[in-house]
Amino acid sequence: MPSESYEIVPSFINGEWLSIKKDRCTNVYNPAKGEIISKTPMCGNKELNKAVEAAEKAFVSWSSLPSNNRAQILFNYRSLIKENLEEIAKIISTENGKTLAEAKGDIQRGFEVVEFACGISQLSKGESLAEVAPNIDATTIREPLGICAGISPFNFPAMVPMWMFPLAIACGNTFILKPSEKVPLTAVKLVKLFEKAGLPKGVLNLIHGGKEIVDGLCTHPKISAVSFVGSSIVGHHVYSLASRNGKRVQAGGAAKNALLVMRDAEPDSTLRAIMSSSFGCAGQRCMAGSLLVGVGDVKESLKEKVSGAIDKLVVGDPIKNEKTEMGPVIDGNSQERISKIIEKIEKNGASLINDGRKLIDNEGYFIGPTLFDNVNSDMTVFSEEIFGPVLSILNPKNLTEAIQWLNKLNYGNGATIFTTSGASAKEFRASIKCGMVGINVGVPAPMAMFPFSGWNESFYGDLHMQGSEGVMFYTRQKVILSRWDHSYKDKQGW
Ligand code: NAD
Repeated sequence: MPSESYEIVPSFINGEWLSIKKDRCTNVYNPAKGEIISKTPMCGNKELNKAVEAAEKAFVSWSSLPSNNRAQILFNYRSLIKENLEEIAKIISTENGKTLAEAKGDIQRGFEVVEFACGISQLSKGESLAEVAPNIDATTIREPLGICAGISPFNFPAMVPMWMFPLAIACGNTFILKPSEKVPLTAVKLVKLFEKAGLPKGVLNLIHGGKEIVDGLCTHPKISAVSFVGSSIVGHHVYSLASRNGKRVQAGGAAKNALLVMRDAEPDSTLRAIMSSSFGCAGQRCMAGSLLVGVGDVKESLKEKVSGAIDKLVVGDPIKNEKTEMGPVIDGNSQERISKIIEKIEKNGASLINDGRKLIDNEGYFIGPTLFDNVNSDMTVFSEEIFGPVLSILNPKNLTEAIQWLNKLNYGNGATIFTTSGASAKEFRASIKCGMVGINVGVPAPMAMFPFSGWNESFYGDLHMQGSEGVMFYTRQKVILSRWDHSYKDKQGW
């Protein structure tokens, strides 16, 4: 099909949907078929300046609206997301490739942030203390920052943008969202629903593009804060550039997560959790299990069970076959990159147990679930993020050695222990160096009332997304000291 036959993904600036034609566009694929479905325009500073102008104007009235009135619009938005769940899930599944059940989970986790943000009046209350000094009372209030920006990755087209804009807007800010150019259609739907919920024009703007827009958001003098989620290399760039330009920044990055199995772990639920953590969303999750740590003599039976479960996993087009348990990876580049990594791991001496490359010649961008044994903590696969359905087995002799190995990782998103021993769980919780710890939970991703708490190279900044840290990130405090002296009573004044 000639490129002009594809629909240009619309941007939303100052309450208007615009089909912005650009010489440079990125293809949006249906990765299960390998077909182009839309074109994302690579917008630039011209569009960014218009969005900033609109957001600046809208901030005046939006920020002065009582928080309860802002919450009413969020309540409407909440209902609309629920009503449109099936349609949004289908859009996610089509442009990202995850299964419909995973797509619904993606929306659900974002939806929970909207629900959390509905309580903004309670969440943004300040503190006060009478008589901090003779006749002096102290009060803190939280005020919005101004214009905030959000830059999101391809792997959670609904959840990650919704970590950002609902809470920022509930706090009284206006917002510019730049979603991943690979999955822009979900963002379009989410913004349309917020518009329908009654959001005034200019409060939420949507611009598509790549590096030019991202760098523009990080340097524009009128933008106060930047929320980023994506790879660590881009996250570090965004953090450095935006903070050098005086902005508040929170930037979630890449990860390498471990699933540690003790001999006393409950076998069935552990196996289910390993499979879903490692191969759910085709391993394209920043909380995906990537290292399977079989401690001591549990390793051999663990390997057999996981390998057997891999053989039974249904991989395919999630829209065509409802029984699909694992979809494709996002695009051809990703498929090729992961395939080369599998080749490299094998060359480095690990033993390939299940080889997902056998699906490469199928239609679409598939890599099947892949399992390696005999991986050790000196190999590159131990520390590099693959972001695909590849799981590597390690075999430390005991829990202490396992923790020593895992604490060499530079990333710090998540790690899980499977055990029925409280003592082992407690030792793991206390000694492991990462921000989100699972105990018999395969994907220890926190819900909306808790922060998504990456450490080390998995997060740059201070205040994480979600929960009370999210409210703190999108507001700043004012401390007010008031003197009310008894001698003021019945004074005439000047
Ligand atoms: P990415 O870093 O390639 O892209 C993220 C965003 O940055 C996109 O909007 C993209 O347009 C933009 N971008 C890409 N290259 C850029 C550049 N050179 N300069 C400026 N902007 C640029 O990430 P991705 O491939 O979309 O997503 C996968 C990554 O995201 C993985 O590393 C994964 O671990 C990570 N991730 C992290 C979390 C978390 O909470 N820590 C959550 C989800 C995904």
